Amino acid sequence: MSEVTQKNKQTDHIRVEDIKLYVNGEFVNAESGAVFENINPFTNTPINNIAEGRQEDIKKAVAAAKSAFHGSWGNMKLSERMTYINRIADVIDEEIAEIAVLEALDTGLPISQTKNMVARAAENFRFYAKMVESTLHGEAYQVDQEFINYTVYKPLGVVGLITPWNAPFMLETWKVAPALATGNTVVLKPAELSPLTANKLAEVIDKAGIPKGVFNVVHGFGETAGAALVAHPDVEAISFTGETVTGSTIIKNSADSLKKTSMELGGKSPLIVFEDADIERAIDATVWGIFSFNGERCTANSRLFLHKNIKDEFVEQLKERVSNIKIGDPMDPSTQLGPLIEKNHYQKVSEYIALAAKEGCQVVQGVVPEEVKAGNFVPPTLLLNATNDMKVCQDEIFGPVMAVIEFETEEEVIAAANAVEYGLAGYVWTNDIKRGHRVAQAVDAGMLWLNSHNVRDLRIPFGGTKASGIGREGGHYAMFEFYTEPKVIHVAIGDHHIPQFGKKK
Ligand code: NAD
Repeated sequence: MSEVTQKNKQTDHIRVEDIKLYVNGEFVNAESGAVFENINPFTNTPINNIAEGRQEDIKKAVAAAKSAFHGSWGNMKLSERMTYINRIADVIDEEIAEIAVLEALDTGLPISQTKNMVARAAENFRFYAKMVESTLHGEAYQVDQEFINYTVYKPLGVVGLITPWNAPFMLETWKVAPALATGNTVVLKPAELSPLTANKLAEVIDKAGIPKGVFNVVHGFGETAGAALVAHPDVEAISFTGETVTGSTIIKNSADSLKKTSMELGGKSPLIVFEDADIERAIDATVWGIFSFNGERCTANSRLFLHKNIKDEFVEQLKERVSNIKIGDPMDPSTQLGPLIEKNHYQKVSEYIALAAKEGCQVVQGVVPEEVKAGNFVPPTLLLNATNDMKVCQDEIFGPVMAVIEFETEEEVIAAANAVEYGLAGYVWTNDIKRGHRVAQAVDAGMLWLNSHNVRDLRIPFGGTKASGIGREGGHYAMFEFYTEPKVIHVAIGDHHIPQFGKKK
């Protein structure tokens, strides 16, 4: 069990025990005995050691999940299963403060933001318990007086869930909740850079009394633990969230065992502000959309398109916001921007900023306070005078960095917004209702917000087009299109004619 003692808001005072794998209802060491170090992004000092699962641990976890699927979980009444799912939500609610602290400690995300994400995680379980109970039903057709056909939606069996580090607890539960609610059993391979709350999820699920083997967590690296899960013949499907290049590797590696896959991948989303927009609100949304979650957000508006008539005024206000964003200890409730997940990522983001300057952008940044310089802090950064063909406008940087591009006409901005390989999200700000809908339809993205930012109903499909993904999560999309399979049952209710081959007349 992890123990968190928070003597004051300073990260240094938080102590967390070492973490094991969770397999068949037990917290166990890796078969090999291997561990890896988990590093605090605020101090760059070790937090704890994590058991490093590999192929043999994946095998054990899959065997446990398979046996639970054919046993306790698979044979359980729907109402009983939903009682368990709701109990998970209740335990999350009881432990919300501790989970939020662990998430902030592990990822560098500000505590004020991790609290909301944990609350949403509990909601993910309640939402799917209700949705499965009320809407997971099939259709029936009376073909004629002699036949009826009906469908039922059956769980797949063992599903493998592979998740990233950028909003770990929330994203894990966004997969675990529909997977379990629809009757599957799970092996979760969380990101190696953010194992704390995945372990906490195992503790929560253990505390909720879910039968052994239904939910398993194997910590470890992508190339070993993740790849073994993808290759395992008894895993029916892989739901993945992460980088586009990893998604592509997983699709290739899952081909031999013909697995179903769901891909939630990267983004380079445009935010377009027309001259008639509500500028104050558009600025709030722009700043939140790129600098919340430390800019490590798949739907971040990393490309800002400003109409030439409002550009100067908009940029002046952005500069002021950037200089006022509170950078600091993720545990401080007033912090708005924390450190990036790890040193390598810090290097990568910093290199992109240097490249932007070399390519001709004017770089405007906030200031990182001297006392937090040990952390992986990249200040909020604007890349002014950017053009859409620059590398910094094409690649997903995944940090608090926004390129600002001027435009003149609607046609021109639509073409530029779509001239990237990604298609996850888009944002349009205008008070012209016809133009708003026109541009919203024309921007190639799985999700488009018109005069709003990232507010959404959980029943709505979540996911992207092009290199941003394949398939959708959320609502009945996850339920019907991914975690279950329709099965048709053809029933004779009369004695219909059957051809009598070979029968003597
Ligand atoms: P990543 O692809 O590096 O890692 C994600 C997970 O995949 C980790 O658990 C990792 O261990 C595992 N993995 C790596 N190689 C693997 C392999 N060969 N086989 C199996 N598993 C493997 O991604 P990341 O850096 O952790 O996350 C950031 C990325 O996630 C960004 O691109 C971001 O846009 C994306 N993301 C997308 C969404 C969305 O909903 N579209 C949401 C959040 C994050």
